[in-house]
Amino acid sequence: METHTLRDFCQQLPKTELHAHLNGSISDHTLTKLMRRRHLGGQNMTSFEKGRSRTLDECFQAFKIIHKLTEDEESVKMVTGDVIKEFSQDGVKYLELRSTPREEEHTGMTRRSYVEAVLNAIRSPEISALDITVRLLLSIDRKNGAMVAMETVKLAQEYLLTSDDCVVGVDLSGNPKIPGQDEETQALLELRPHRIGHGTFLKASRNGTSELVEHVRKLKIPLELCLTSNVKCQTVKTYHEHHFKFWFDQSHPCTFCTDDKGVFSTTLSEEYGIAATTFGLSPKQLWDISYNSIDFAFAQHDVKDKLRFTWNEHKHLILRK
Ligand SMILES: [Zn+2]
Repeated sequence: METHTLRDFCQQLPKTELHAHLNGSISDHTLTKLMRRRHLGGQNMTSFEKGRSRTLDECFQAFKIIHKLTEDEESVKMVTGDVIKEFSQDGVKYLELRSTPREEEHTGMTRRSYVEAVLNAIRSPEISALDITVRLLLSIDRKNGAMVAMETVKLAQEYLLTSDDCVVGVDLSGNPKIPGQDEETQALLELRPHRIGHGTFLKASRNGTSELVEHVRKLKIPLELCLTSNVKCQTVKTYHEHHFKFWFDQSHPCTFCTDDKGVFSTTLSEEYGIAATTFGLSPKQLWDISYNSIDFAFAQHDVKDKLRFTWNEHKHLILRK
């Protein structure tokens, strides 16, 4: 497929985004708005220029700056709305955002009011009018320790029951380079997670016989693969060496995700395009990856049925070309 045709196809392809951190998804445009509010001028300090790579530690540095700009409910609501609109413009029909509920003493924001601000944005009339279904996962950041983790799990439990199915789960995130990383991985896999983000720790690209790989394979735990994020953070050297190929070749459930579309200057359509050119995937294969990801979404059955209906409506329009 020619480049421009592939780009159009990926843009028109209805997509699910299952691994997107709210703060890392903030676009340059929204960052500029936030800086203006704080009278910091329009200079962008966080987004990664195309092609430039940074270390994992530098990536976490970028998040610190973003956090400083989103310390009150109003900015949290504003960025949530903007991020959802941008995903919708990119042809995403189902979006699971994930975010760590944060408290900020000096602005009075609490973990609860943070979650409320995100939910208010999702439920606002402007966002509800868009052709996109949005769900929320509450993230537990490793660095905040066990007490905060428990508080977040309790918040998630409460909102699972009271948010009209909007809060659908929890996610463990943050810098994975911690003491006891292997033990953590083992303990988490024993909990049988419903999905795994990245999967770089499985180290499957070269050695396909490790115990962890076998475990994930046997349980068919879907993988959320973030090509550009892995390459820019250097957890995978090149697109060609990405472990997508290893899993895809054995029909393991996989989906493409952006991770942090703002920090890594990417879009979900671009990720599909990169996968197609790197691994020689056909439009039909891209279609199947996108359609099959509905299966791993944390949404209710009726929502998934509606999504499948939407996909099938688009299928004749874009695959026939
Ligand atoms: Zn992530």
